[in-house]
Amino acid sequence: MYDVVIIGGGPAGITAGIYAARAGLKAVIFESGFFGGQIVNSHKIDNYPALPGISGYEFASKLKEQLKQFDIEIKNNKVIECDLESTPKIIKTKKEEFMAKSVVLATGTTPAKLGALNEEKFIGRGISYCATCDGAFYKDKVVAVIGGGNTALDDALYLCAFVKKVYLIHRRDKFRGAEVTVEKVKKEEKIEIIYNDEVKEFSGNENLDKLILKSGKHLTVDGAFIAIGSIPETELFKGVIKLDEKGFIEADDSLMTNLPLVYAAGDVRTKKLRQVVTAQSDGAIAISNILEKK
Ligand code: FAD
Repeated sequence: MYDVVIIGGGPAGITAGIYAARAGLKAVIFESGFFGGQIVNSHKIDNYPALPGISGYEFASKLKEQLKQFDIEIKNNKVIECDLESTPKIIKTKKEEFMAKSVVLATGTTPAKLGALNEEKFIGRGISYCATCDGAFYKDKVVAVIGGGNTALDDALYLCAFVKKVYLIHRRDKFRGAEVTVEKVKKEEKIEIIYNDEVKEFSGNENLDKLILKSGKHLTVDGAFIAIGSIPETELFKGVIKLDEKGFIEADDSLMTNLPLVYAAGDVRTKKLRQVVTAQSDGAIAISNILEKK
């Protein structure tokens, strides 16, 4: 029997893991993909105090290294089922079953899909949701970035280091990103901004080679990077845990959900600011409240 099971190995889950282990709780943490979470997709983190300019990959690696120094079980497995209403709570992976007194849900978010025609077909064949991961494959090529927030703007600027040209396609007439970044994008000669338009269809044979826009414009491209936001990873908890209208987990000030001893931490919960510092703060707060209930 575990004192706490942590689902998700991003900044929130790893911080919860560190705090749990240091407090002497018997804990296990599950991560279905890369320990460190989605911050690994960031080219450069400029707003994390004390580590200015660190790359997302290095930051994520440091998180995992630190976690490994503590007495906590680390499982690189996906949680596929859980019974959070029972006592004890039951958490299942494909091969194992775990029992716990308390659970921290720190499953974060995943990139939103555009929903345009043929999007699924060209994922990995020209369509990417991560410029940091795939940008270097497009040396001297023409790419498009789709989106109008900070991530899309950062991606467009980042890609200029490799590519010949970037079409930045935004469905509105004004970007939502930080003013300083918007200015940089506007000054960059490799970026052609297309406002008030959307991708209707991705086209090509084996690989993506064309975007067809709603306006009727055809753009010849080698790749497309979609950066239109993210959706919460809460499918597992639907019907049991109270979610808001967008699917994020609702938690009280102690970060407890509608179920006793089930806590939500990080980007997966309803909150204003989804960043590394706020995710880590959640992880720490959730564990401190679990300790209080022990
Ligand atoms: P996540 O990082 O999303 O981690 C959740 C983890 O849970 C994932 O690794 C996922 O694989 C795992 N998981 C999900 N479901 C399961 C399951 N069923 N079983 C097991 N594991 C599961 N923030 C900043 O502060 N500064 C920045 O500069 C910055 N830049 C960013 C750039 C990009 C491109 C992106 C995408 C995000 C950026 N962010 C930045 C935001 C930051 O990455 C997030 O706020 C932070 O990662 C949230 O941490 P989290 O632990 O809540 O969730």
